[in-house]
Amino acid sequence: MAEAGSFAERVKNQADIVRVIGEYVRLKKSGQNFTGLCPFHGEKTPSFAVHPVKQIFHCFGCGKGGDVFSFVMEMEKCPFPEAVKIVAEKCGIPVPRPKERTPEERKENQQRAALIEIHREVQAFFVRQLESTAEGKAARAYLEDRGLHAEAIARFGIGYAPSGGDVLLRHLKPKYAEKLLVESGVISRDQSGTRLFDRFRKRITFPIANESGKIVAFGCRALGDEMPKYLNSPESPIYSKSNLLYHLDRAKETIRRQDFAILVEGYMDAIAVARAGIANVVASCGTSLAEPQIKLLGRFTKRVIVNYDPDVAGQAATERSLALLLENDFEVKVLALPAIGNKKADPDLFIREKGADAYIKALKESPPYVDYLIARARQMDLTTGEGKQRALNFLMPYVQKIPNQLLRSEWATRIAQQLRIDEPVLRAALNKSAAERRSEVKVAPQLVGKPAKQIERRLIRMLAEAEGFNRELAQRLQQGRLYEGLETERVFAALIAAGFSEEPIPATEIGAQLEERDRRVFFEILFEDAQEPTWEEAESCLEALRRRQIEQELAKVQRTIEANPSGTGLRELLERKQELIKQLAARG
Ligand SMILES: [Zn+2]
Repeated sequence: MAEAGSFAERVKNQADIVRVIGEYVRLKKSGQNFTGLCPFHGEKTPSFAVHPVKQIFHCFGCGKGGDVFSFVMEMEKCPFPEAVKIVAEKCGIPVPRPKERTPEERKENQQRAALIEIHREVQAFFVRQLESTAEGKAARAYLEDRGLHAEAIARFGIGYAPSGGDVLLRHLKPKYAEKLLVESGVISRDQSGTRLFDRFRKRITFPIANESGKIVAFGCRALGDEMPKYLNSPESPIYSKSNLLYHLDRAKETIRRQDFAILVEGYMDAIAVARAGIANVVASCGTSLAEPQIKLLGRFTKRVIVNYDPDVAGQAATERSLALLLENDFEVKVLALPAIGNKKADPDLFIREKGADAYIKALKESPPYVDYLIARARQMDLTTGEGKQRALNFLMPYVQKIPNQLLRSEWATRIAQQLRIDEPVLRAALNKSAAERRSEVKVAPQLVGKPAKQIERRLIRMLAEAEGFNRELAQRLQQGRLYEGLETERVFAALIAAGFSEEPIPATEIGAQLEERDRRVFFEILFEDAQEPTWEEAESCLEALRRRQIEQELAKVQRTIEANPSGTGLRELLERKQELIKQLAARG
């Protein structure tokens, strides 16, 4: 954790947890806290709270909680040092340059920097080719024909790769080593391994940038009927297809602000949608979405409208992506554009033919994914039992992926109605398959953690916060062993130990020492709206605990007597019983 005097501690002291979490979650002020929809579990009403003073967060639904670093670690799925760095960057705290540990690492960093440099150079080259060569002129005509005019060409960095076969190679060769050029993916080596040539020839080029806007690859479309129609950069040390979303660098701010994203298949679609004035669009650049891409998108929003191509491959891709998105707690809608004439419409074609307004309208009306899936299932033959079974088998895996039980139940009713299946039968099937994948079923929040009793809650709050008397309180609790046997015993133990320390210990550190279940209770208590405690109140709470202790002993004595009425030591037990009864009476 954040050690005293460390960079992490400095960051923690300077960072504003509300601001950092506010970049991921839309927070609203609510009393002394801020609340919002929990990014770690699907929910419709906010149970996620951030405490600006204590600098902690806590979700009353799923129980996740901690400090600003644990939030970022969970959110970005990164280790502690990385979380410290991210928080520092978000708060404008200069990060000390990490020492490059090994010569290999230094070499790798240099290689990556060189590859980025090559891509910048190649991008400028492709743009020049489009602007000022005879071949480029033909390419421009093609782009014009697709509605891509100068403004769009400049905005999306569209270029042209000439047909010669080694034009780019000759341009790059004086500056870069052959090995590096091949690694970059823009230059290929023939099978014999002797001859180098341009990977992209006679193609329109689209630069593909990573999240921070650096060009790391190219996507290229054939000008005529050459195959393949689309040819992209291969994977390289700076480019991994499944880790990148096209246009995210430009879309991320709007995605975060509007809290949803439109997901399309290819860069042509993304460009068309962005040009229609919808900035929050990203493309997966491949038929199916990979898990890392979903995690990447999940940093900006958990709501997405999937608008893939309506062909069979697109449908399959939509369905595969849906499954993954649902597993990752996304709220998903599906836009399946209507055919234009006898042509199935992708976003690019639809916007060109029908205009941006029609697209925006379709977007607004796009149904939740289950409706989309039910519509797909209804296209199957439902006149026979086997047909219905097939339709159900098609739907079931998606329904199972809905983390929220109530929602799942709602959809079961809907599916039963729409497919005309007997509802109890459907539910039985659903329950059975749910049981078979038990390990993936999340525990409902209401089943986790019984709330600690009011007196315990108040005392815990005082131990954590009442600077005037929490030390005295810790001593009294310790002397009488008053907290033993309480549900919150371990929370008390940690707080009492902290109460005896010289320096005040922040709540997050105490929380970090506790087991998950105890930490949840502790954080919940810290988030309660509560009045300033007084010593009088503390005393009355102590008294209640003392009373409880006597009552418990009395019950125990009574049980012993009843268990063995003629045993030895009965006299002592009876005497003790009378003594305890007297003590209780004296306490009123
Ligand atoms: Zn939660």
